[in-house]
Amino acid sequence: MNNSKKYLAFYVSIMITCLVLLFAQVISMDAQCCKSGGHGSHGGGGHEHNKAKDEVKSELIREGQIDLKAIDVNEDGKVFQDQMDWNVISDSKGTCPICNMELKEVTLADAKNNLIKNGFEVK
Ligand SMILES: [Zn+2]
Repeated sequence: MNNSKKYLAFYVSIMITCLVLLFAQVISMDAQCCKSGGHGSHGGGGHEHNKAKDEVKSELIREGQIDLKAIDVNEDGKVFQDQMDWNVISDSKGTCPICNMELKEVTLADAKNNLIKNGFEVK
């Protein structure tokens, strides 16, 4: 009598463990589904444009000591530099976030000269 009760308890505990595991799996699948299920393409335009106009903060605007070698990520010896805002430097083609001028491709040496001439600190 006592023995079979023990067996039953053992069996039930295994059942519960299985159920919990199954449940956890279903929940994690559900969560994955929610994460990747981005169907919402309704509305919400225009915001980004306004933001870019208001914020004159950009990662292209270099501040403090400018490390041209660090900016030249592809190591081709050239960077794109704005000819008005000398500290606006990018490793790829683009426009200046301040004056909207197209950045000019210059060698690292030229970029450095331009910066020093205009009172910027270069590493
Ligand atoms: Zn500019």
